[in-house]
Amino acid sequence: MKLIRVVSLSAVLASPLAGQVPAQWEVHDTLRPPPRIVSVQGVPSDGIVLFDGTDLTEWRSSQGGAAKWRVRDGFVEVAPGSGDIETARRFGDVQLHIEWATPAEVKGDGQGRGNSGVFLMGMYELQVLDSYQNRTYADGQAASIYGQHPPLVNAARPPGEWQTYAIVFRRPRFDSTGALSSPARMTVLHNGVLVHDAVELFGATANQRRATYRAHADRLPIKLQDHGNPTKFRNIWVREIE
Ligand code: MG
Repeated sequence: MKLIRVVSLSAVLASPLAGQVPAQWEVHDTLRPPPRIVSVQGVPSDGIVLFDGTDLTEWRSSQGGAAKWRVRDGFVEVAPGSGDIETARRFGDVQLHIEWATPAEVKGDGQGRGNSGVFLMGMYELQVLDSYQNRTYADGQAASIYGQHPPLVNAARPPGEWQTYAIVFRRPRFDSTGALSSPARMTVLHNGVLVHDAVELFGATANQRRATYRAHADRLPIKLQDHGNPTKFRNIWVREIE
């Protein structure tokens, strides 16, 4: 007879077996529910398409009103000076897929070349920049978590070429007093190459000062940055992590 022990999650986490098979299941237990099926013809079947190349209905201007970036030929391009855009929906823990390309015609250098950014929850920036033979500070190059963590390696493609970010973002947790109980974490593959391995974020992205946390909502929009360069994006989808 199979003995199914019922234990609390905290007991599992505290047990010396943490990291092994959870205590309520035997190894190879056929009663253990199978993972939900997700079909993967293109965007995963449980994904939310945020941009499919045709319109910006999922987006709005961060300043209010319609998003003013330019959609053409299956991509959306920053309209410099029009401001950041953000999703109408709000998200917490997510897997995010996004493709981007910096201008093929190279102009400027350092932070001025193809700068944009993907802001999880509108405040945690994964940098977008032309980092192909373009030196800047390490914690501000492409795929850096801006001002905090340089990428493990520079996997940048040349300007004008499409690049991908596969992002796993875990939002920070705050207790009822607003104190931080666990920091945000990010895992990122840049063009299929691991550049962040569940790194802890120090706080919301800040410029030229140390990041800090301030309590915020559990779900907030994903934002894309207008940094004055006509950087392009396409094929943006997100999966909410259960
Ligand atoms: Mg940026």
